[in-house]
Amino acid sequence: MANAVPRQFLDACRDALGASGVVQDLEAIEPYTVDFWRQHRGRAAAVLRPRCTAEVAAAVALAAEHRVPLVPQGGNTGLVRGGIPDGSGGQVVLSLERLDRIRHIGAAGDHLVAEAGCVLARVQEAAAAVGRLFPLSLGAEGSCRIGGNLSTNAGGVNVLRYGMARDLVLGLEVVLADGRVWSALSPLRKDNTGYDLKQLFIGAEGTLGIITAAALRLVPAPRERVTLWLGIDAPARAVELLRRFQNELGDLITSFELLTAFGVAAAARHLPGVRRPLAGDHPWHVLIEAAWTFADGLRERVEAVVATALEEGLIADGVLAESEAQRTMFWRIREGQSEATRHMGYIVRSDVSVAISDLPRLIGRMASWVAEHAPEVLLIPFGHVGDGNLHFNFVTPPAAVEHLRPMLLGQLYDEVTRLGGSISAEHGIGRLKRAELARRKPALDLELMRRLKNALDPQGLLNPGVLL
Ligand code: FAD
Ligand code: ZN
Repeated sequence: MANAVPRQFLDACRDALGASGVVQDLEAIEPYTVDFWRQHRGRAAAVLRPRCTAEVAAAVALAAEHRVPLVPQGGNTGLVRGGIPDGSGGQVVLSLERLDRIRHIGAAGDHLVAEAGCVLARVQEAAAAVGRLFPLSLGAEGSCRIGGNLSTNAGGVNVLRYGMARDLVLGLEVVLADGRVWSALSPLRKDNTGYDLKQLFIGAEGTLGIITAAALRLVPAPRERVTLWLGIDAPARAVELLRRFQNELGDLITSFELLTAFGVAAAARHLPGVRRPLAGDHPWHVLIEAAWTFADGLRERVEAVVATALEEGLIADGVLAESEAQRTMFWRIREGQSEATRHMGYIVRSDVSVAISDLPRLIGRMASWVAEHAPEVLLIPFGHVGDGNLHFNFVTPPAAVEHLRPMLLGQLYDEVTRLGGSISAEHGIGRLKRAELARRKPALDLELMRRLKNALDPQGLLNPGVLL
């Protein structure tokens, strides 16, 4: 086999990482080669499981010496096949899961240093334990890991207020393609001594270096939080409401999410413990959250905005979460959108962004197109209206996926491109959207990206086949 992984490489890795650091048993390797939704499968010659930065560095140096392609992996919740190997069997997965220590919490509570393999929920807990908030929050937070979050520049439900993953990073530690460790974990807020190198590795999907640790920004924990569920008649209302809420409450709004009636009903039917938040039938739903550091007073302010919007007919109905349990249920509906509909067919996923004011147009155009050209497909748009970012899930008859997927996504990406939007707002490119990127990204952008790649990974061994 032309691209077989040399035995000497694996032997040397075993010397460097210990027996438990090199997995070759086929059954044990399997989970590292299949994606979260079990829709895509690759093959790996082995899985490396280093325990510390020095072991990562040793593994990467050996890979460089033996010219072995590495696929870094965190929690393997990525949705674009970037963290699982290709089908050749000639790649090796480098799992960061054992680098899972919180190394340090800043004395001022303004940052913490977490290793790449820390599960996101654990980082949130560590912040909460010192009375602070680590605001990155997404449906996969119980299994995704910080290194993966940063490598995909994850978004999630708090971007509106706190930004994407890259906005929460103060410093990084990265193992470079030649095995050297670039340590820049200083938690400085301000540093204008040249290029902001850490940002290169954020959103790079493992193609420029291996992130081993990060200094993460913590913010004051909110004391009062208000979560509300609204029924509305059209997506354009959501955009109007967003502006209304932001005008009245500024950046106290942390989340602003849109859902379809169908998606809400599916959640109520299929997710345990979930009920429809509103009694009446509404074609569209909005989930909003606001938070501040005062102990009370926010609820009244939110209620005042809702009352006016109700009076003006912007909202058909609404309810505020009365308990943490109800709030959790609201969020369960939102985060369970894919889970609630996946038994109905094969879900073709997407995450696109356009200007917020163009969202209703995009939804309208896609709905008409699907009705006319693919009536067997159920279109479920939902997501982060506040960020101009929607997930269009196409529930597709499994037998017709191969034929429908390129049609549906091609149409969506064409519409998005016409509106000047992005074909990947938060999940990244991975292996899944590489051809689309090559087709749609301006040539000069691609050239600059390739030059960076060549400069930092001249042998092309870090996640080959991903992104570029
Ligand atoms: P992995 O899947 O393991 O890897 C992702 C990419 O990063 C791969 O290219 C991999 O090679 C690379 N990588 C991983 N670790 C490292 C490292 N240490 N150094 C270098 N490269 C590395 N994403 C959002 O942005 N917003 C959401 O709201 C959201 N919701 C989701 C909900 C569900 C139910 C699921 C399953 C996924 C969701 N995602 C979302 C996608 C996914 O959770 C994120 O992309 C997440 O950040 C990936 O983290 P991970 O540890 O699982 O990374
Ligand atoms: Zn999302």
